[in-house]
Amino acid sequence: MDCLFCKIINKEIPAEIVFEDEQVIAFNDINPQAPHHVLVIPKKHIATTNEITDQDTALVGRMHQAAAEIAAERGFATEGYRAVMNCNSHGGQTVYHIHLHLLGGKALGWPPYTDTLKQPV
Ligand code: 5GP
Ligand code: ZN
Repeated sequence: MDCLFCKIINKEIPAEIVFEDEQVIAFNDINPQAPHHVLVIPKKHIATTNEITDQDTALVGRMHQAAAEIAAERGFATEGYRAVMNCNSHGGQTVYHIHLHLLGGKALGWPPYTDTLKQPV
């Protein structure tokens, strides 16, 4: 399977890995959008959030828990952060292996991406 994030999981492509356990791995985003921008991904290949099954619900929960642990370890859990998964083209997904963006270290704007839509939401 030609998947960039599976290659990072298999250590075929380098990444700045910040967390790893049996189920998930996390690494710094190559193009950070905040002082802290970490991607938390499952070791199981799931292309989009539309493909999450009953068997994956604990795994997706573990992704969120790992993100919170990383935020705490880096000292920005109390001030807060955003954890988001983009889905397909309208969601802005570019890598088709689900990943939780953990963004923190500054006050983040809301709503996001209105400039990308270039139309009223
Ligand atoms: P998406 O747009 O699919 O929600 O997010 C994909 C993310 O993966 C982007 O934030 C992008 O910067 C990041 N990314 C793409 N290629 C690489 C890579 O080779 N290494 C790392 N660490 N991040 C990547
Ligand atoms: Zn994959």
